Amino acid sequence: MEDCIFCKIVSGAIPADIVYRDDEHTAFRDIHPAAPIHALLVPNKHWPTLYDVPDAETHGKILQAACAAAAAMGLDKGGFRLVANFGPDGGQEVMHVHYHILGGRIMGWPPG
Ligand code: 5GP
Ligand code: ZN
Repeated sequence: MEDCIFCKIVSGAIPADIVYRDDEHTAFRDIHPAAPIHALLVPNKHWPTLYDVPDAETHGKILQAACAAAAAMGLDKGGFRLVANFGPDGGQEVMHVHYHILGGRIMGWPPG
């Protein structure tokens, strides 16, 4: 996807602070962090929303990679929050599937 900012980060066309990579996923620090540690885990393939991810196995791999990325940032001991925003009501701004990984502070509930 030519105009997708996350596709450009995955390909290296625009820079990002990469914290985790495997063959099918990339995690990088959010440009506007909402917590001391805030990264985005994306599948390298462009799917606009979670509903476009083709199958359960692929969903599972994305979640597994999000957990691995959190561990790579040292969040597997103290904990973290994993967030997927979907659609206008959910606050999704970038139409490339991503999970927010938030940590480094105690998270409030309910979220805003
Ligand atoms: P959404 O609201 O779609 O769930 O989250 C999109 C996230 O992408 C936001 O937290 C925003 O700060 C982040 N973001 C948008 N553009 C860029 C960028 O160019 N680089 C990085 N690292 N993060 C970005
Ligand atoms: Zn994309």
